[in-house]
Amino acid sequence: MTIERTLSIIKPDAVAKNVIGQIYSRFENAGLKIIAANMAYLSRSDAEKFYVIHKNQPFFKDLIEFMILGPLMIQVLEGDDAIAKNRRLMGATDPKKAETGTIRADFAVSIDANAIHGSDSQETAATEIAFFFPEINVYSQRNVSSGTF
Ligand code: GDP
Repeated sequence: MTIERTLSIIKPDAVAKNVIGQIYSRFENAGLKIIAANMAYLSRSDAEKFYVIHKNQPFFKDLIEFMILGPLMIQVLEGDDAIAKNRRLMGATDPKKAETGTIRADFAVSIDANAIHGSDSQETAATEIAFFFPEINVYSQRNVSSGTF
């Protein structure tokens, strides 16, 4: 069992659709714990920094414009195999190709407005978590089992 952490962002389209709770339920039902959370707007410069890896992509400008349209719900998820598990819950980048029952298939309409972001590797997870949350605001539940209460 590998306990991992991953960064998740509910994007402006899904926040506007009022489905934060439904998406959180999917994390919880899959055994992922929300160990940090913050609702925030991204500034243009932070959006550009966060997505710097896509700087030279033709969709970069549209991606940045979209990510600053409205508030985001940003969280750290912790659990067994959290990075891959969260990616499976999200579904394919293009919602039209996403498997039925995934977050993108159920809540997203286009590759631009695709509801959710999730880290894709251990390296990006560490960098992305540090981008949004100082360690002091990440509340690991590793040593707290549900049997405690
Ligand atoms: P993700 O890890 O599934 O979110 O996908 P990527 O890291 O490859 O891309 C980051 C984000 O850029 C995606 O979630 C999309 O919103 C957007 N994106 C990626 N590829 C495309 C594309 O081919 N066209 C457009 N318009 N947007 C894209």
